[in-house]
Amino acid sequence: MALVEVESVSKSYPRRAGLGMEEHTVVNCVSFSIEAGETLGLVGESGSGKSTVARMILALTPVSSGAIRVDEVNLASASSATLRKLRRQMQPVFQDPFAALNPRMKVFDIITEPWRIHRNDPDLPHGGAALRTAAAELLRQVSLDESAFNRFPHEFSGGQRQRINIARALALRPKLLILDEPVSALDVSVGAQIVNLLRQLQREFGLTYLFISHSMPLVRYLATRIAVMEKGRLVETGYAEEICSAPQQAYTQQLLAATPELPVHRDS
Ligand code: ADP
Ligand code: MG
Repeated sequence: MALVEVESVSKSYPRRAGLGMEEHTVVNCVSFSIEAGETLGLVGESGSGKSTVARMILALTPVSSGAIRVDEVNLASASSATLRKLRRQMQPVFQDPFAALNPRMKVFDIITEPWRIHRNDPDLPHGGAALRTAAAELLRQVSLDESAFNRFPHEFSGGQRQRINIARALALRPKLLILDEPVSALDVSVGAQIVNLLRQLQREFGLTYLFISHSMPLVRYLATRIAVMEKGRLVETGYAEEICSAPQQAYTQQLLAATPELPVHRDS
């Protein structure tokens, strides 16, 4: 079943044109779905509209036209209570792990914040001891441990900070992670470790991923299916092996030729 359906979605912003304003279309009639348990890779050059699609799915910005359904609920007509519930199920992980972490908060407070915000949810850990146990477990799942509790984000490397981000994203046990260029700011080998962690977490928790990147080899490594965006439009969609072995569009061929292979190994 499709967890996310993006149907003929467009997004435009007003921009200055001469003395007046015009509509600038940055996402143009895009349709795709994300099946429960799969990784959909969304690939395209910088500026092609990938992050805008991500923000619309996360209900951080409305569509200009078309419809997005998550768990069969149309975001545009959902009540605020329903939207709150849906937002818990889809957590973002962005490119810059430092910008996403409050520099004045200790790691323990960062990763337990979602539980404290949802303090009325009986399914989540509450109270000092339970929070510490659950937070230590969360850190172990991203290959860190409780020695991180009392440290601040700046005391960690870029890769470790992205692990902290991922831990926080998992705190509410979401179904879907929206991974927007999650390793683009990291060294290639550090990025490869994060990608392997993401594969492992997906298997362990049955997560669904929207994995956004400008790098075809990265997307190819993780994705079940790939959707290729060019200048706001979806130009090609298909199974990862098909797209990579027999790209139909010149643009997809360029993307495949542009980036070197990743030093990661399929371990399954
Ligand atoms: P990508 O993530 O593929 O690099 P983006 O979705 O960030 O692409 O941006 C696509 C286009 O939309 C760019 O030309 C960008 O300048 C424009 N854009 C994005 N957000 C806004 C905004 N809030 N207002 C106006 N233009 C925007
Ligand atoms: Mg982007």
